[in-house]
Amino acid sequence: MAQLQQPKFVYMGGKLRLWHEAALHVGCEAVIRGLNVFEGVKGYWQQDGRFAFIMLRRHYERLRRSARLLHIPCDWTFEAYEGAILELVSQLVEPGRDMWARTTLFVVDGHWGENTVSDLVITAYHQSKEPPQPINLGVSTWRRSPDVALPARIKTSSNYQVSRLARIEGRAQDCQDMVLLNQSGRVAETTGACILMVREGVVYTPPAGEGALESITLDLVEALAQSMGIPFVRRPIDRTELLVADEMAVCGTLAELPLVRKFQGMPLSETSPILKALQKRYFDAVRGVDPHPAVELSVLPAQVAANSK
Ligand code: PMP
Repeated sequence: MAQLQQPKFVYMGGKLRLWHEAALHVGCEAVIRGLNVFEGVKGYWQQDGRFAFIMLRRHYERLRRSARLLHIPCDWTFEAYEGAILELVSQLVEPGRDMWARTTLFVVDGHWGENTVSDLVITAYHQSKEPPQPINLGVSTWRRSPDVALPARIKTSSNYQVSRLARIEGRAQDCQDMVLLNQSGRVAETTGACILMVREGVVYTPPAGEGALESITLDLVEALAQSMGIPFVRRPIDRTELLVADEMAVCGTLAELPLVRKFQGMPLSETSPILKALQKRYFDAVRGVDPHPAVELSVLPAQVAANSK
């Protein structure tokens, strides 16, 4: 598990610090109210030997949107954000392993929305290069909170309390991830990814208005599907549709694109031709095996990548 690693450095307060020195004060709003917004970003070794993060500008833009919605100041430019990630990762990257970084704006000063001060903290973890294994998916009794309560559109840690409860529930059912339904009982997303369902040759996913995060991976998968001639439609999905789907997968930056092997204990087709093809196209695109214009790269300086080999 990525979260259990303790890498040597953390980026905090505008510079690199040792892991055990990267601490927040017990009195700050980040601690007492869980006040932060964040992005998980993924870096891949490329076929040509470079190391690059993907879609950083999109993540930066979503971080700013989340911060705006929670009245958290974000005075970072894209260039500074990208530079901070690459500075940290250049100290940690290793041959043979990809990386996932969590970039978090913690509220370190201020109270109830007055005098709010944030700090960008970046932690980065090693990741296996192996493609994800198929998963068992269930449906949680916990639901995605509505837009008028804690909007799914805001990527803030508080939103993941329900994901944590659903994962605990799922573990008892031998499920690696769980579907969260929205307040109307339709499909929203999973605890940390979006849902893809295939029926009669068409890929469907619920729109963000159904209670899903505005996913960057989903936009990328849609672009890949379009260039492969696979129809891709965003529309509300009922739970029973998942039970009769021909193929199913989830997608997200960290999850990547695992197929669903069993849904609510019922096996899905092992062939999954459409989603398997999309999965292959995804990995070929993010690793530069078969580049696609929708994949934006932030490349680590060549010297750093060469030294880590
Ligand atoms: N939904 C949730 C709840 C998530 O945590 C994630 C992962 N960030 C996603 C969807 C997928 O979003 P993205 O493709 O931008 O990573």
